[in-house]
Amino acid sequence: MTRFIFITGGVVSSLGKGLASAALGALLQARGYKVRMRKLDPYLNVDPGTMSPYQHGEVYVTDDGAETDLDLGHYERFTGVSTTRGDNVTTGRIYRDIIANERRGDYGGGTVQVVPHVTDAIKAFVLADTEAFDFVLCEIGGTVGDIEGLPFFEAIRQLGNELGRERACFIHLTLVPYIKSAGELKTKPTQHSVKELRGIGIQPDILLCRSDHPIPEGERRKIALFCNVKPSRVIQALDVETIYEVPLTYHAEGFDREVLEGFGLPLAPEPALDRWLNVVERLKRPEGEVKIAIVGKYTGLKDAYKSLQEALVHGGIANNVRVNITWLASEIFEQDHEAILALEDVNAILVPGGFGERGTSGKIAAVQFARERKVPYLGICYGMQMAVIEAARNLAGLKDANSTEIGPTRNPVVGLMTEWVRGNRTELRQEGGDLGGTMRLGAYDAVLSEGSRVAEIYGTRLISERHRHRYEVNPAYRRHLEEHGVLFSGMSPDGILPEVIEIKDHPWFIGVQFHPELKSKPLDPHPLFSSFVAAALTKSRLV
Ligand code: GLN
Repeated sequence: MTRFIFITGGVVSSLGKGLASAALGALLQARGYKVRMRKLDPYLNVDPGTMSPYQHGEVYVTDDGAETDLDLGHYERFTGVSTTRGDNVTTGRIYRDIIANERRGDYGGGTVQVVPHVTDAIKAFVLADTEAFDFVLCEIGGTVGDIEGLPFFEAIRQLGNELGRERACFIHLTLVPYIKSAGELKTKPTQHSVKELRGIGIQPDILLCRSDHPIPEGERRKIALFCNVKPSRVIQALDVETIYEVPLTYHAEGFDREVLEGFGLPLAPEPALDRWLNVVERLKRPEGEVKIAIVGKYTGLKDAYKSLQEALVHGGIANNVRVNITWLASEIFEQDHEAILALEDVNAILVPGGFGERGTSGKIAAVQFARERKVPYLGICYGMQMAVIEAARNLAGLKDANSTEIGPTRNPVVGLMTEWVRGNRTELRQEGGDLGGTMRLGAYDAVLSEGSRVAEIYGTRLISERHRHRYEVNPAYRRHLEEHGVLFSGMSPDGILPEVIEIKDHPWFIGVQFHPELKSKPLDPHPLFSSFVAAALTKSRLV
């Protein structure tokens, strides 16, 4: 029997609902249950693919090529379960499908309405493909009271009724703020938030209360009384040093126990948490540290590079070192030529994915620094394309080499992809076509060259990684670039699209067209990040 856990949020946004859901998923999994995790996003975009990272943070790409919310990244990192297109939906997508049905005449002359048509579509999404799982954890984006969230709350309210208490559980995440002048924790915002939730017909079963101060027994009882939940089901969620500690602290507070008890499931045996303990131990007591510069465009908002940041932490776990990240906006290298000296101080340089012209010459300057000064370099997607442009200009003598994404050039070493193969289908694109969902997206295989550094790192020659790009390194330049020290060490299986490049005679210089950070996990660090952090560590010992 599949049980459904609905996670809502109140008081303020950014309380870490995604993380809370993911950590609960990990705890249930550590008790031997099979979990699936889903996110319902009330905004109107069909998916976050066309949104700026400043609006929405990172766009997380699934194996099956969906552009999704970054919370799906948390789900995968905590549970190891690969998410799919079926695990994230928005109001935009629900309406798009309903309107398409209406135009086809599927509603047979009926009036199409939010209730029941929109709510039915949301319920169908929540219930689809769930038979193989013990638990489906379903997070609702935004906070209770948001106008655009209403159909989602209504849908889960109906589901609560239809599934019954033994199959549905409502968890509400709130904030219990500490008011300094009064020296007190305040429960009123939580009371109001629950009142709002009950106003739309949902009585939460468990309250997860974020706080930076321990919540005393008396305050917990007060919350329980006013919110109509058992005192043991008011769980405090205190701030922690590392996010990977969250499953452990939740367990210590009895969160998973209360969930199981609510469903009438056995509480024994205890979950197997040794692997999480080990991760936290390594994070809290590393044996050394390295400093890695991320030279990018959206460095003002760390969420824009969420998976990347986490993958570096995982690389640190693998090497038992703390990874200190120096965030540098690539544009600083364009305005101030001395600024590049900031890179003298780091043990490795990473240029992440990106789009558009702004900041690219600064990224190219960072690549040149890494290559010439023999600093370990990892270029991801745009970072690989920048590395190819840099090598073409400064090693292979093509002074005007560029990407057509940046501007017109006689030497398009990176150009728009108009045709590629997915499975047994050929995908076609044109300049000026739709932007949403039309990149080369999701998992594609790549074949690594025998004896290459990258093949050694992966320990295999056939890999599958997730992609999100519209441009590609132009294979027409392969011979010329190889003659000048750029190794094309990974290609698509048909031998057409460059997937990995390396620079010869360099301690560690790799560019990848895909996004390895999307598949790295604390319990299973990605080999490229483990190796990159190891190279940074070696470098740190040299200086
Ligand atoms: N802008 C580049 C492209 O579309 C790189 C994309 C990325 O870094 N994800 O190909």
